[in-house]
Amino acid sequence: MKIDFDKNIDGLIPAIIQDATTKNVLMLGYMNQEAFDKTKETQKVTFYSRSKKRSWTKGEESGNFLNVVHIKNDCDDDTLLIYVNPAGPTCHKGSDTCWNEENLSNFGFFSELEKTIEQRRTSSEADTSYVASLFEKGINKIAQKVGEEAVEVVIEAKDDNDDLFLNESADLLFHYLILLQAKGFTLNDIENVLKKRQK
Ligand code: AMP
Ligand code: ZN
Ligand code: ZN
Ligand code: ZN
Repeated sequence: MKIDFDKNIDGLIPAIIQDATTKNVLMLGYMNQEAFDKTKETQKVTFYSRSKKRSWTKGEESGNFLNVVHIKNDCDDDTLLIYVNPAGPTCHKGSDTCWNEENLSNFGFFSELEKTIEQRRTSSEADTSYVASLFEKGINKIAQKVGEEAVEVVIEAKDDNDDLFLNESADLLFHYLILLQAKGFTLNDIENVLKKRQK
């Protein structure tokens, strides 16, 4: 890997640290040649600390190492993107990321849908919002809807109408997200259960 450490006067290049699984950005640090070599050798992220004025392996005191999964350089070889598995919270102030965020999985569109459902749930607009009206009817009604949609998926699975199958699948997933929220859970809770089973 060719890296242009001399592009900046101080011989330091920025390294963006990203969680290899969740894809959240955890922190940003700077590396010189020595820190970069040490990172590759140990597979633990080592920066050049401008305040300490020495190489600094993230986690050297806290144990919260950043275990390297993959290192990429950018289009003009002056910035690094490092995918890691963090051993603990990355920020020395205790939070998962240096932007005071939790390092939760992001399910993209489905996470946005969870937020929309939450917005409807707390809106008390049962007369205009289908989702709000479902929440108003309560958990039994929501669970029943999930059951009905599941049966419709089963019926369409036996047919070979892809369009109907996909539409019923969307109905099921949508109503399932509503049930999950009505029970006070999120997709992250389901992910945790599935992850435990993998081990
Ligand atoms: P650690 O490398 O986690 O053992 O932390 C050692 C010291 O490095 C801390 O006391 C902070 O001064 C500094 N430090 C650790 N993590 C960060 C971070 N994410 N951003 C800036 N400074 C940090
Ligand atoms: Zn660049
Ligand atoms: Zn921080
Ligand atoms: Zn349906």
